[in-house]
Amino acid sequence: MEKVYERSSTLMNIPMHYCPGCTHGNAHKLIAEVIDEMDLKGKTIGVSGIGCSFLSYFDIDVVGAPHGRPPATATGVKAANPDSFVFTYQGDGDCSAIGIAEALHAAGRGEKFTTFMVANGVFAMTGGQKSPYTLVGDRTTTTQDGRDIERDGHPMKMAELVAQVPGAYYVARGSLSSPKNIAKSKEYIRKAMKYQMDGKGYTFVELLSTCPTNWGISPVESLKKVDEEIEAYYPLGEILTPEGVA
Ligand code: SF4
Repeated sequence: MEKVYERSSTLMNIPMHYCPGCTHGNAHKLIAEVIDEMDLKGKTIGVSGIGCSFLSYFDIDVVGAPHGRPPATATGVKAANPDSFVFTYQGDGDCSAIGIAEALHAAGRGEKFTTFMVANGVFAMTGGQKSPYTLVGDRTTTTQDGRDIERDGHPMKMAELVAQVPGAYYVARGSLSSPKNIAKSKEYIRKAMKYQMDGKGYTFVELLSTCPTNWGISPVESLKKVDEEIEAYYPLGEILTPEGVA
């Protein structure tokens, strides 16, 4: 029988600890598949932030960074290993709140590594607090009656911010909510990785993700929320390409 699918060799064949319905696993799978397809397994270094994600599921070299500091850490890793594929894997809490300065300055310096920001609108691992990506009206442990603009401010759009910084080379926002969106996200991941390996500037791919546990809804309802509510505020697509801002 013809084999039509094979598990990525870059992902360890061990059970993941993520909650049912969490889409971190989808993000891992896409990144691992592109590492395989581009034959980068032996020369990839991942830098993880603080959060639910666990880069040790990847069969690659991994460096752990303090909360929000993966871009600063990756700057040193890439400087020491200029031929390697270097990426940071961060949540929206890590990247767009605590680490926003590091990400924007990495873009400004045109650092030649890639940031994957997996956004689910909460500080998931530390207790479900509001993040810059919490939608107006959404309840978190620090916005128990829903995010209120007057009190809590507007949700931020990290990809659009990064795209405005000279030195950024490629910026896109995908979603992990459906097979169609997952396939498109893989295309963005592949482009970002290729641009990095071609020696271009900073590349940033945002991936809209779920957190059924902290959202307090089912996995199916979570995917629907991403598709119907979150993507309405965070439009999908390429935001900065070599041709300019979309
Ligand atoms: S708490 Fe949320 S982000 Fe963390 S593993 Fe569970 S569903 Fe995923």
